[in-house]
Amino acid sequence: MPVPYADLQLQYQSIKREVDDAIAGVIRENSFIRGPYVDGFERDFAQAVDVKHCVSCANGTDALYIAMAALKVQPGDEVITTAHSWISTSAMITHAGATPVFCDTDGATYTVDPAAIEAAITSRTVGIIPVHLYGQPADMDTIMAIAARHKLWVIEDCAQAHLARYKGRQVGTFGQAATYSFYPGKNLGAMGDAGAVVTNDSALAEHMAMLARHGGLIKHQHQIEGINSRLDGMQAAILSAKLPHLPVWTKARQQAAEVYNSGLNQIDDVTVPAVAAERSHVYHLYTIKHPRRDALAAHLGAHGVQTAINYPSALPFLAAYRRLKARPEHFPNAYQDQSRILSLPMFAEISREQQAEVIGLIRTF
Ligand SMILES: *Cc1c(COP(=O)(O)O)cnc(C)c1O
Repeated sequence: MPVPYADLQLQYQSIKREVDDAIAGVIRENSFIRGPYVDGFERDFAQAVDVKHCVSCANGTDALYIAMAALKVQPGDEVITTAHSWISTSAMITHAGATPVFCDTDGATYTVDPAAIEAAITSRTVGIIPVHLYGQPADMDTIMAIAARHKLWVIEDCAQAHLARYKGRQVGTFGQAATYSFYPGKNLGAMGDAGAVVTNDSALAEHMAMLARHGGLIKHQHQIEGINSRLDGMQAAILSAKLPHLPVWTKARQQAAEVYNSGLNQIDDVTVPAVAAERSHVYHLYTIKHPRRDALAAHLGAHGVQTAINYPSALPFLAAYRRLKARPEHFPNAYQDQSRILSLPMFAEISREQQAEVIGLIRTF
């Protein structure tokens, strides 16, 4: 039985009417840029993640840039982030004018090690960007305490963690701002690129909205030099149609993760994802560790099971960061993980039969 890594068609088929109606409404009303669908989604999403303001934008990468630009990052500033993430997190630090400073992960949760953050702080450090990687919150209490002690801002990268909670509180509500991606494969996905930045700070929200919209909120009144980073009406309408289903989809991912956990945790050599106490994981990805990862991936692939590696190289070891001259001993956990991690098929609609197939193939391997 072939098992895809993700299946966006199944989700679409399950809510086809709602999505098709949403798209038709946007076309009928010529609501392509701004307008009621974008306003509506910003309201809906802010409410869903327990924040005051949602500023929509073109994608999760722009969201990071917009948040840092609004926090007035300057050349010479250092921003601390994790060695294990998608490149947007660190690339936007550079594009906002600052220097990324990488920290190792904690060796268990794939999220940043707070002790490494503390050790990386210098007189130039202005902020921290923790990433709730794969859908598990980073250790926010410890990170917020470090930030408070050193007067640093925190931007949470929530691109993989819609609705995840830390000690009962939603991610995205801890830092000065938090960024989201609605890339089609994310837990809440558009049918194209889409993103948002959220905050409880009204002045910051207004500044971020101006930055995203050519530097002004009223046509031809440019208060600052902004960029053009807009969520379009069609994506907003699709996202609003999908948002009410997100809690159910999240629960389904969590149940699928439990099925994998109980099927895999007795197998020698397989390390199932560790979830720290009082953190709810929303399983954007279900990523195991295995000492013979490449052979395992080939075995699964040969039997029609798609897997992925997120990510084949930790950020400091990418060609883009050659200038940092990173060495394995600087990031031992992130370095070791790059050759061990394997993401298994994970989506809300995955069937128990499909999971049994994956588990059986790993067992025979
Ligand atoms: C997907 C992702 C982004 C970027 O989002 P885009 O919408 O693709 O620009 C940023 N950070 C992380 C951790 C991501 O997974």
